[in-house]
Amino acid sequence: MEKQNVPELFGSLVFDDRVMRARLSSDVYSSLRKTIDENAKLNEDVAEAVAKEMRDWAVERGATHFTHWFQPLTGVTAEKHDSFISPSPDGGVIMEFSGKELIKGEPDASSFPSGGLRATFEARGYTAWDPTSYAFIKDHTLCIPTAFCSYSGEALDKKTPLLRSMQALDKQAKRILKLFGNEVKYVRTSVGPEQEYFLVDKEMFEKRPDLVYTGRTLFGAMPPKGQELDDHYFGVIKPRVSAFMEDLNSELWKLGILAKTEHNEVAPAQHELAPIFSTTNVATDNNQLTMEIMQKVARKHGMVCLLHEKPFAGVNGSGKHNNWSMATDTGVNLLSPGATPYENAQFLLFLVAVIQAVDDYQDLLRLSVATAGNDHRLGANEAPPAIISIFLGDELSAVLDAIKNDTPYEGKEREVLKLGVHTLPRFSKDSTDRNRTSPFAFTGNKFEFRSLGSSNSIACCNIMLNAAVAESLKQFADKLEASSDFETDMHNLIKETITKHERILFNGNGYTDEWVKEATEVRGLSNLKTTADAMPHLLDKKNMDMLMAHKVFTESEIQSRCEIMLENYCKTINIEGHTMVDMVRKNYLPAIESYLFSLAQTTSLMKSVSSNVKCNYEISTMERLSELTDYILERVKDLEEALDKLKGIDNVMDASAFIRDDLIPKMEHLRKHVDEAEMLSSEDCWPVPSYGKLLFSVY
Ligand code: ADP
Ligand code: MG
Repeated sequence: MEKQNVPELFGSLVFDDRVMRARLSSDVYSSLRKTIDENAKLNEDVAEAVAKEMRDWAVERGATHFTHWFQPLTGVTAEKHDSFISPSPDGGVIMEFSGKELIKGEPDASSFPSGGLRATFEARGYTAWDPTSYAFIKDHTLCIPTAFCSYSGEALDKKTPLLRSMQALDKQAKRILKLFGNEVKYVRTSVGPEQEYFLVDKEMFEKRPDLVYTGRTLFGAMPPKGQELDDHYFGVIKPRVSAFMEDLNSELWKLGILAKTEHNEVAPAQHELAPIFSTTNVATDNNQLTMEIMQKVARKHGMVCLLHEKPFAGVNGSGKHNNWSMATDTGVNLLSPGATPYENAQFLLFLVAVIQAVDDYQDLLRLSVATAGNDHRLGANEAPPAIISIFLGDELSAVLDAIKNDTPYEGKEREVLKLGVHTLPRFSKDSTDRNRTSPFAFTGNKFEFRSLGSSNSIACCNIMLNAAVAESLKQFADKLEASSDFETDMHNLIKETITKHERILFNGNGYTDEWVKEATEVRGLSNLKTTADAMPHLLDKKNMDMLMAHKVFTESEIQSRCEIMLENYCKTINIEGHTMVDMVRKNYLPAIESYLFSLAQTTSLMKSVSSNVKCNYEISTMERLSELTDYILERVKDLEEALDKLKGIDNVMDASAFIRDDLIPKMEHLRKHVDEAEMLSSEDCWPVPSYGKLLFSVY
């Protein structure tokens, strides 16, 4: 690959601040900046001027089309391309793009899920420009990040509620900061999502109907070697993967995505990419783009990028870590312990606000990452359990204990910690980042939510997290604004909050059975194991009340989302079930049959040549395989019956419970027999590439 000038490359396809400043008149620029930074209303003239410059800039870079780029509830992104061309009187065309086209679009979007929000006869939702996320060029198309709403104003996407949740948090956080004498323009949440993925050879991939239809293997016996040697984790990156990463990085950099670290992960063929953090809605857009570009670039390199949470049974699946913090426009990280006692008090107040939020809305955080794919990981000793808890590390836990008990903190000075008076130690990242089993860990100056599945949109968990923290901050601000002795009342509030919510704090090993027992039986934490268990809690009164109070969702938006998420769960597993039936009937049974035939033929031939041969191997293998084909037939009939039954259930709640209790166990049962048959059959007759080939064939 030719040598790259990274600073020149970076953001070269983004209409970012540098471009705006260089190309827009200073009036237009400062007006747009006000919209971006302070949510000020955008006037038409400004939109017109921005549209014109955006078009010229895009056309200069080879763009012929534009699209409003949005994130419908399917969890992927959507785009409908319009070309810039407009007929000119001389019979030719000119390239046109108006302010109106920039601000608002009307895709015919009747096929996107709306959970009943938008009757199909009024199919046209509209898209509205999100000026806080920069426009960019992809495949000769100017992409304008937008929100997607129905005509009655209901959000049909993931971006709108995310922006609303950021506003809710901004509003409440500013109230708290004001109490400390800090007047800031805004508080934004920042996110750095670490993305895991698998790379497999494209030819192998295409030979596996399960991977093609569902993104994961539904069958497959374990190879002799898996991840037990830990030789892949941080291992030397293989040349083909390295070429892919190089290409991926430059594509991402062009789009202004701060791709920073890359390494091999625990499982063979598994890798990770982490960007430098940015504002939540930008990070969300960028993560969606990253996932898309990863898949595209992989294809170019003859590979397929698997983003499924559990592509292979028996080896680790892929997740995403949502590193999250809050920061002011002046660059102060509110989750960073400060240098002065007063800053520390402020830090502790924000810290306990998060603790309270996570405890009060465990169920919302859990369900925000619930998908059919992620159900395979959570609680399976490779990812955090389905129980949400917070890891703080020993140092910070000791500080909170000291506050709670009014006891001396064993820090530098042995004194009773009085907030606003004493300084806190600086928590080194090293001492806080050890526990990888915790779903929600403090890592020095941010929290890392680790329960996300690799294909999840990070919008969902950040909506819930922002809203829940906004709610704690609101409760705190209501109390403290009315206080006549701020310092004492703040001290007491922090103390009370620790006492009330310490059940959510857990520094131990989250993978153990003892923790599950303690968490559920002693501490009363919720353990929502599957999507079918978790998702209905979205409709719990306390959750709906909170989300509506902060104007993150309307009542019907919440109901529709619950419906869509469960529907998605049902559809996903329904497809998996049908794929299994298909593969068993069309691929596996005929393959085993032909192997049986060759065994039988060999046996009779050998016996006809010599009466001394025993044919133990042939006969015992034949007997077991024949037995297995009978089991497989029974199990596949069971599964077909269950799939039929599922068709008759129209309520998604009932359907998802049926899937959890009936369908999934039947799928697992069927798989077990097929995998055993694979172990007994010759590789040559097996109809799909083995796990070993899929996991170890990329060099
Ligand atoms: P690891 O978790 O693998 O040890 P790091 O801690 O270096 O990796 O960073 C993980 C991610 O956290 C990166 O994407 C980084 O940009 C992000 N991050 C760092 N600081 C913040 C912050 N204040 N807010 C949000 N994300 C952050
Ligand atoms: Mg991490």
